[in-house]
This record gives sequence, structure tokens and C-alpha cells, in this order.
Amino acid sequence: MQAPLALTLALVQLGLFALCWLGVALLMKAQRPAALLFMAACLCDAATAWLQVTQVGSLRPVAAGLMTLGLGSAALVGAGAEAFVAGQIRHPRAWLGLLALGAAAAWLMQPLASSTAAQALQMGLYQGSFLLMLLLPVVGLQAPIRQEFGRLGWLALLPFAVMSLAVLAFLLHLLLQPQAVVRSYAAREDQGASSLIPLAVISGLFHIAWLGLTVGRQVLRAGRLARIDGLTGLLRRGPFETELADGLALARRLRQPVTLAFLDVDHFKRINDAGGHAAGDRVLAALGAVLQRVLRSTDRCGRWGGEEFVLLLHGIDASQAPATLQRLAREIAQADIAVPPPCAALTVSIGHATCSGSSEATGAELVARADAAMYEAKRRGRNTIVAHAAGLPAALHARPS
Ligand code: GH3
Ligand code: MG
Ligand code: MG
Repeated sequence: MQAPLALTLALVQLGLFALCWLGVALLMKAQRPAALLFMAACLCDAATAWLQVTQVGSLRPVAAGLMTLGLGSAALVGAGAEAFVAGQIRHPRAWLGLLALGAAAAWLMQPLASSTAAQALQMGLYQGSFLLMLLLPVVGLQAPIRQEFGRLGWLALLPFAVMSLAVLAFLLHLLLQPQAVVRSYAAREDQGASSLIPLAVISGLFHIAWLGLTVGRQVLRAGRLARIDGLTGLLRRGPFETELADGLALARRLRQPVTLAFLDVDHFKRINDAGGHAAGDRVLAALGAVLQRVLRSTDRCGRWGGEEFVLLLHGIDASQAPATLQRLAREIAQADIAVPPPCAALTVSIGHATCSGSSEATGAELVARADAAMYEAKRRGRNTIVAHAAGLPAALHARPS
């Protein structure tokens, strides 16, 4: 391929990626620092490509500039990857230090030191800085990326790993045959179009993978937002109702009992009145955390509305339910959730209803029974647990759906 055509294609590719990152920075505020760093890396790579092809003849006059741009691009994508994963650049000093060390070695190589050993040392320092810049994300970001995106998340680190292997191979070659490497570096000529191909492939792989991660993160977050209540971290009402219907169908098939508990915070309005809605919100968030901590992984817990929660306890029959729920109420009391003065310590009223493995009750019926039992607990003076029994009046007021 002719050099001007290859350069045009490389610049168009990098320009398009830069535009994508600009779009991300403008549209997604949370991803802005990473997107701007990745956009700057595109500009760095574009400058590298342009210098490489427009430099006629030997690369030597611009070699230090090219090497510094290469390091700059690695620092920008590494720091950007950190900002994307951790929400901030975690090692700014490491990036700047490695950039300064590598750039100093690159500029000292022009003109090259007289002895082979000194030249090899300069090359080693430059490539060593480069290698550390590439390895930092591979080592430091692997675990958080896997945690957020699952097992295939490591694919986004593949461009860093491939480049690391290439640099490692160069360093090994330098260690084993310093004279040959130094000689071939000194005889380097303009590499023209061919040198743009690895640059285009690696930067293309990198930007596609990380744009994919950015979109994937938005999709995962939107899915989570639709399912999870932002304040308490518990299931929203709709997803809980789906879990309830599925849980009941499974329990019926396995002939296992299921208990549904309806939990309402006592005198919650007083907390809002005394400390404002922010204080009430803190109480709800703390209560949500306690419920998540205490319940078994097979149980499900949702926020029904306001200060009302629903718990789906698998395998718990009517005789086991009181002890299980008393333990839960004890855990809530022991958590000592802060309430504004002069409110009394936080207590809850709980109503529960059990569905045996052979019962045909629907989720809505089970909720209505537990709700009626919860109102009976309120009537009995609050801070108590009541099982649904035949003859209990239905819920006193209709609940919004
Ligand atoms: P009871 O013991 O009879 O349940 O009394 P209560 O005060 O807990 O119940 P009531 O239904 O009178 O008041 C519930 C209050 O919860 C009213 C509403 O403003 C408040 N609330 C509902 N959702 C939220 C929320 O998301 N945050 C806060 N801070 N308050 C909320
Ligand atoms: Mg209520
Ligand atoms: Mg209440």
C-alpha cells in the first residue's frame, strides 16, 4: 500500500475513534475523564502516524519525538483505563514518572551514546518504561473489570497484553544480543506505510474493545436501575412480583413451603418530620443494607413502596416463620440504625403468610394476607410480628401499584 493512502486511512480511523470518544464525553458525564484521555490518545497516535510517513528518508531526526508520542499514547490509554474502571486516575505519579523516564531515555539516544553498553542501557530504559506502562493496567485492572463485566471482560485488556509481549520480546532480544539490536536501530530507515499497519490494528482493537465496554456498562447500569431500587439496593416492586410468581411456581413444583413477610417501619413519618426527608432516606438505605446482609442468598427482598418491604423466604413453613422473622427483627434492632431525636429507636411491624407446597394461592393473594397480618401487628401496638390467620380483615387501604 502506498504511504499517503495508508496515512489517510490511519488518520480517518483515528479521527472516527476520536469523534466517538468526544461523543461519549459529551453524552456520558460519568465516563468523561476516561473518554477525554482516550480521545487525546487518538490525537497522539495520529501525530505519530503523520510524523512517521511525512518524514522523508531516515527516521533519526524525528525518532525522539516519535518515541515520546508512543509513550504518551501508552500513558494516556493506561490512565484512561484506570479512570474508566476506578472512576479516577489511581496512579498519576506512576504515569508521569514512567513518561519522564522513557522520554529522557528517548531524547538522550539522539545522538546515540558512544558505547554499545550505554546505547543498550538507554534503549532498555525506554522500552522498560513502555513495558511497565502496558503492564500496569493488565495487572491492576484485571480483577475489577472481571467483577463488573464477567469473565470476558479481560478481552479489553488484550491490546495491552499483546503490546507487552512485543516489548518484552524486544527487551529479551536486547538483553541477549545488545550489539545486533543497537546496530539495527542505528541503521533504521523510514518505515513508511508498513509501520502504520500494526499501529492501526492495535489502536483499532483497543478503541473497539473500550467503546464496547463503555456501551456495555451503560446497558448493565440501565438493567440494574430497572430492577434495583436506588435508595435501598433492594428489588423494585415489579421485579419482586416477577420473582414472587416464579418462586411460587417453583415451590409448588418441588412441594416446598414459601413464606412471604410484609415489613413496615413504625412511625416512619415522625423520622421525616424530625430530621427531614434526607434523614428518612438514610434510615431506609441503612435498613435495606441490614435486610440484604441478613437474608439468605435464596431469599428475595423488595421495596414494596415508601417504608414498606416484602420478603420472600423459600423453604420456611408456618412453624419456622416466627423464629426466622424474630431473628430478623433482632438484627434490625442490633444494627442500631441512627434516627433523629426525639424519635424512639427504629422498630418494624411484620405480618407474614405461608403457602404450603400444595397451595394454589397466587402471589397477590399471599401479599394481601401478609399485608393484613402486618396491619394487625400495627393494631396490636407495633414492633411485633403477626402470622396471617383466617378471619383477619383484609388490608385497610388499597395500595398503589
Ligand atoms: P405506621 O407506624 O402506622 O406505619 O406510621 P408511619 O408514619 O410509618 O406511616 P405513614 O404511612 O403515616 O407514613 C409513611 C411516610 O413515609 C410518609 C411518606 O412521606 C414517607 N416516605 C415514603 N417514601 C419515602 C422515601 O422514599 N423517603 C422518605 N424519606 N420518606 C418516604
Ligand atoms: Mg406504611
Ligand atoms: Mg410505617
